[in-house]
Parts: sequence; C-alpha cells; structure tokens
Amino acid sequence: MCGIIGYVGEREMAPLLINGLKKLEYRGYDSYGFCIKDGDRFHVLKKKGRISEDESPLKKIQGNFGIAHTRWATHGKPTEINSHPHFDCKKEISIVHNGIIENAEQLRKMLEKEKHVFVSETDSEVIAHLIEKFYVNSLEMAVKKAISLLDGSFALAIICKNEDCILAVKRGSPLVLGVGKNENFIASDVVPIIEYTKKIIYLKDEEIAKITKEGIEIKNSKGKIIDKKIAEIKWNIKQAEKGKFKHFMIKEIFEQPEVIKNVLRGRIKDNKIKLTLDINFKKINRIILTACGTSWHSCLIAKTLIEKYAQIPVEVDYASEFRYRNPLVSKNDLLIAVSQSGETADTLAAIREGKKKGAKTLGIINVVGSTISREVDSGIYLYSGPETGVASTKAFTSQIMALFLFALYARQEKKCKIDPRLINEIKKLPEKIEESLGEVKKIKSIAKKFVDSSNFLYFGRGINYPVALEGALKLKEISYIHAEGYPAAEMKHGPIALIDGNMPSVFIATHSKTFSKLISNIEEVKARGGKIISIVNKEDKIARKCSDFAINVPRTIEDLSAIVNVIPLQLLSYFIADMRGLDVDKPRNLAKSVTVE
Ligand code: GLU
Repeated sequence: MCGIIGYVGEREMAPLLINGLKKLEYRGYDSYGFCIKDGDRFHVLKKKGRISEDESPLKKIQGNFGIAHTRWATHGKPTEINSHPHFDCKKEISIVHNGIIENAEQLRKMLEKEKHVFVSETDSEVIAHLIEKFYVNSLEMAVKKAISLLDGSFALAIICKNEDCILAVKRGSPLVLGVGKNENFIASDVVPIIEYTKKIIYLKDEEIAKITKEGIEIKNSKGKIIDKKIAEIKWNIKQAEKGKFKHFMIKEIFEQPEVIKNVLRGRIKDNKIKLTLDINFKKINRIILTACGTSWHSCLIAKTLIEKYAQIPVEVDYASEFRYRNPLVSKNDLLIAVSQSGETADTLAAIREGKKKGAKTLGIINVVGSTISREVDSGIYLYSGPETGVASTKAFTSQIMALFLFALYARQEKKCKIDPRLINEIKKLPEKIEESLGEVKKIKSIAKKFVDSSNFLYFGRGINYPVALEGALKLKEISYIHAEGYPAAEMKHGPIALIDGNMPSVFIATHSKTFSKLISNIEEVKARGGKIISIVNKEDKIARKCSDFAINVPRTIEDLSAIVNVIPLQLLSYFIADMRGLDVDKPRNLAKSVTVE
C-alpha cells in the first residue's frame, strides 16, 4: 500500500507531486507529504488526512528534485509527524517508503545507541538514519549498505542535499520509472505518470536507479550498469478518470460489459480457446488457486469450473495461509495466482513459495508488467484498464471470465470437446451484464429501504455461494455494515438464529440445479419474519413470489451466472454506501493494492 511519486525536471514541482499523489490516493490516504530539493535546501510539507482540493499555496514551492508519499499506516498512527518523507538527524537525507521494515525495532535500538534521535513512530524512519550512518560521499553506496540490513519490504525514493539525483530501490513493493524528455519520474504505479509519458521501466528487486533530468542509470545488485527494456503503456489517462460518474466504483461497475469484451478479445476463434500458456496439462495432477479478498472469491468459482471442464482436482488457498503452512507442493502442481494489481504481497509470496517447491505457475493479473506477472511462468492478462475504486468490481468479473477461459483451454488441451452452445452463451455475456445494469433504479430504491440496517446476510449455492461471499464483502467494505455470506443450505447450521424482522437476507435465486432447495431456504427465512431481497431471472415467478424485493437478471447457464448475478450486488452495496454519505472509493482503513503482509 501507500503511493510514492518522484519527479526530476522543470515542471512546476509542487502541483505535479500533489496531482500525482491524488491519483495514488487509492493506495492509502492516512496522511501525505513531500520534500522538494531546491539547490541545497529542502522544502517539506506533511499533512494528516487526505489531500485537500485546494493546495494552491504550495504552487510557489519550486525545485528540481521532488519526492512525495500518500500513506497507509502500518507502524504508528496517521499523524503529521509519522507522515513521510522521513529524515536523518541532520535533515540532509529525505526518504519516502512503501512497505514494512520487519526488523525496525532492532535497527532503531542499534541506531539510538549510536546517538541517532528519532522523531516518529514509523518503521520507515530507520532507513533515513541508516543511510546517514553509512553516508561518506556517495548516496548510492550508503543506500546499498543500508538496505542490506533491512528485513521486510520496501520501495524507496531518496534524495540528499549533497547530490543532484533521486535514488530509487525496491524489494517486494512496486516501483516504476517514467522516461520523459528532459524529465523523469518514479511512482508506485503508472497511473500518476501516464499523463506525462507512456514510456515505463519496471524496476526489479535490488536494482538501484539513479534518476536525473538527463537520464536514468540502473545498476543490478552486483553494481553493474544494466540496459533495461522500456515498455509502452497502451491505455490513456481518460481511463483513469471518473468522467461523468460520481465515483470510480460506479464507473467501474458500468464498465463491465466492455471489460468482459476485452478479456475475451482474440481469445475465442471457431469454437477454440486461444491462449498462449506454457503448460503441459498431461503433467498437471492438481491445480492450486491462491489469492486474497475478492480475487479469492473468483478462485472459489474457478474451482467448480476447472474441475468440471478440465477434470483436474483444484484446491483454493488464501495466499497468506498458503505461504506459511509449508504446503505440500510438487512439480506436477500448477499454482495459479489471481491478483488485480499483480503486486499483492501475500499472493506474490505464495507464488515464490510454490516456485521454490517446483510448481508451475500462472498469473491471472490486470496490471501489465506488475511483479507477479513478471515472476510467473505464464499468464492471462485481464485488460480491464485501471481499477481505482478500492472495492473491486470489474476485476472480479473479468477474473472469473479469464479463469473460465483457462478451464476451457485446459479441456481443449486434454482433447475434450467444448460445447458450442457454451461459447455462444459466453459471447452473449456483455449484453446480459448490460441488462443486469438496467435494474439500477430499482436497486437504488431497495438500497433506500435498507440504508439504516446494521446487518445483512447473503445466501447462494454452488457457483453462486462465492457470489454471496462477494456481495457481503462489497457491502462491509464500503458501507461498514456487518454482512456475511453463506452457502444457503448452511443457514440451518447457525445463521438462521440471527433472523428477525430487522435482518435483511439477500438470496441469489437464479435458475440452477439447486433452485428448489434454495426456494425452501427462502421460505425458512420468511417463516421467521426475515426480509428477503432476491436476485431472480426475469421470467421467474417462484422466487419472486416468496421475496419482499426481487431484482431481475437475464438468464444464462448456471456456470456463467456468477458474472451476471454479482452486478446487482455491487450496485446495492454502492448505493447503500453512497446514501450513508460515505467515501465509496476510499473506505476507511482500506487501500487498494495490498503490498504489505
Ligand atoms: N510502514 C510505513 C509506515 O507505516 C509505510 C507504510 C506504507 O507503505 O504506506 O509509515
């Protein structure tokens, strides 16, 4: 989490940094700050909270080297003093840090014994003091020595009064460099940079970049200058803006028909799935899907799909659990990591763990060039464009679609036929999502009725059980209403005790092989006075009749229904959160790209 931006060049410095931080705010918004080097002077600003709209007084601050940070606190409260940048004792070295220094306490004690005085509670401040300790006449050498003592993760941008450059280095956390003409950039991701340049260098762990106006020099961990590939970003700034929408989340919900088209584009031809994956399915005995949060829900859906279509046993694991439980993994396993950002710290670590144990790896990733996408053996990009709303929406549906394609591809590789009706149904998905979005007014009116609820239950079965989990997660993330998702049949084993007139239950009650069982579950809740909101097929009469509120979605085959059915749940949570006056795109305590453990 946290966003870093750095700039060397002749543009107005403070507005550029502030503007960049605003674009990175989805990564963290506890506090922000910057340090601008003007000759041998530092201009520093640190503020608690979010970046205010009017930072015009800052326009006067000029300089040629600037670093800035928007924080998602891990160590120490979100106060002004804990805001980045952090400094050494003499205030000659300034750093911004994304990540966690796990041995910060030990390092701090060691440095305190050497008379270093600390002002903040952060783990990050030790980095500035370590660099000071090792500084003789080369910032680069001091940084190298300092990072060799650090345990944990970091992306760092560093400036020093004595040297005219910005140094950038990383381990575990993301950092990209933007290549301009007579100007260069550093940032946590490409979003704040693309306005200025589309030429990007992805920095690897332990590489050190020295950034000046004239150029970028990158050295590998052995100190050798290396020639790095410059990638060209394909999307434009408009895609990273809200446009006519009130929030990114609602914009991204409405982008889903397009997003599904994008993930399918060029990947289905004459009833054949076209993917370029370096996988020999004859040698794969088991697939392990690993992810966090919403992506973990798409893995649960994919388990059903892969087992059905590819006939390969699948396990789903939270990345944070997988990485630490010494999992049994062999060279006949395929480990699939699912992550929107491709930077999720736990998922990255899970992939590294799997690789170490000999598994083949595959990434289902949105952000092109991200760390996971570079470390896996093969991958399927989502091509969904930037997802900025902290609550994931379009990444979820496109992940399911990509995993569905993967399941069919594996089937094809095993020389089994793909039913052309299935392919036909897949092609109809964008219009079916469009139809689901057409219920927006009704969903808004339902949201109004439940805006003051303090709890919600979500029920679904089969492929729609993870949809229930996702519906509940969306609601709690952005509206702060307690919500839980369950497989509908599990209701009788506990959650039913919670049902009373104040407890809304959302049922995903579309056509399925367990439809009649689910109807009985609705009746059981109804008999106990619970309020029922159902997601039903347009032509349905049965589920509609036993529900207080019914939201229509078009019918598709059960295996694809998750993609259509989740849309109203995303909208419901969006409207409830918005009606509660909450900051939908930046819910409290959360950040988008979870680059710390
Ligand atoms: N660990 C650092 C802090 O708490 C950096 C957190 C971040 O990545 O924003 O300040």
